[in-house]
Amino acid sequence: MKTVRTIAELRSGLDAARRAGARIGFVPTMGFFHEGHLSLMRRARNECDVVVVSLFVNPTQFNDPSDLAAYPRDERRDAARAEGVGVDCLFAPNEAEMYPPATATAVVVSGVSEPLEGVSRGPGHFRGVATVVAKLFNIVQPGVAYFGQKDAQQALVIRRMARDLDFPLLVEVCPTVREPDGLAMSSRNVRLSADARQQALALKRGLDAATAAVAAGERDRDRVERRGRDAMAALGVEPEYFAVLSAAGLTPVNPLAGEILVAVAAHIGGVRLIDNAIVAVTAS
Ligand code: AMP
Repeated sequence: MKTVRTIAELRSGLDAARRAGARIGFVPTMGFFHEGHLSLMRRARNECDVVVVSLFVNPTQFNDPSDLAAYPRDERRDAARAEGVGVDCLFAPNEAEMYPPATATAVVVSGVSEPLEGVSRGPGHFRGVATVVAKLFNIVQPGVAYFGQKDAQQALVIRRMARDLDFPLLVEVCPTVREPDGLAMSSRNVRLSADARQQALALKRGLDAATAAVAAGERDRDRVERRGRDAMAALGVEPEYFAVLSAAGLTPVNPLAGEILVAVAAHIGGVRLIDNAIVAVTAS
């Protein structure tokens, strides 16, 4: 596996493969790899001729400077893990390479970027995400890009951007990988103390309670949300949001029908965690 730091080197490195018609798979990440990241890379390895992973902790998507400063980093370990699953190229640019002075352009995706994380982290978050992913799409020019369902709203924002801006690629969304007790894997989990690690189970418990309520026939959105919040409260956690929205467009839906997204965010011991579940609501 090759680690590449500049856009020019990445482009010239992919040139021959592209001309030969290779299918290029791309996994954008912020590093500190866990099984969730590796599952995306393995899928890309299975489906593509060349696999490129980017590692860039994108400052423009952080609304909280202390979160950016505390974001875990270990490039050497990441490179070994990526190589272990057969990645061909790790693109690890520095900030100056991605944002030269006087950068003045940003990508704004309206609609799906606005609720949930858009409220909690502000409009700058998904503007930062969409802009860096658009740049990375233009730099790598993949045939397929892989994202995790763990960041459900991000996947919707990227799909919408790819469609609206005519990026000639497929966006694939892969299932959330969890710890054995249900906690969604996240680079931020290493920052949880032992107590916070236990409390962090509240997110999945809340999602499970809401999902169970729907399975038992509850169709009132507010009651479903309350069931989720109550399950979290039992572990002493109050979510930043616990919301049920349409899965396709993140619009309000009540009574519940079709595919719904149950989404939750919570601060646990100073660490911000998110999780979600998709539920197909059957006519009752
Ligand atoms: P990040 O490094 O957190 O920006 O994540 C890079 C990619 O990995 C994103 O597409 C995430 O949605 C995905 N990802 C992160 N955690 C998980 C997980 N637990 N399961 C599946 N995909 C994940």
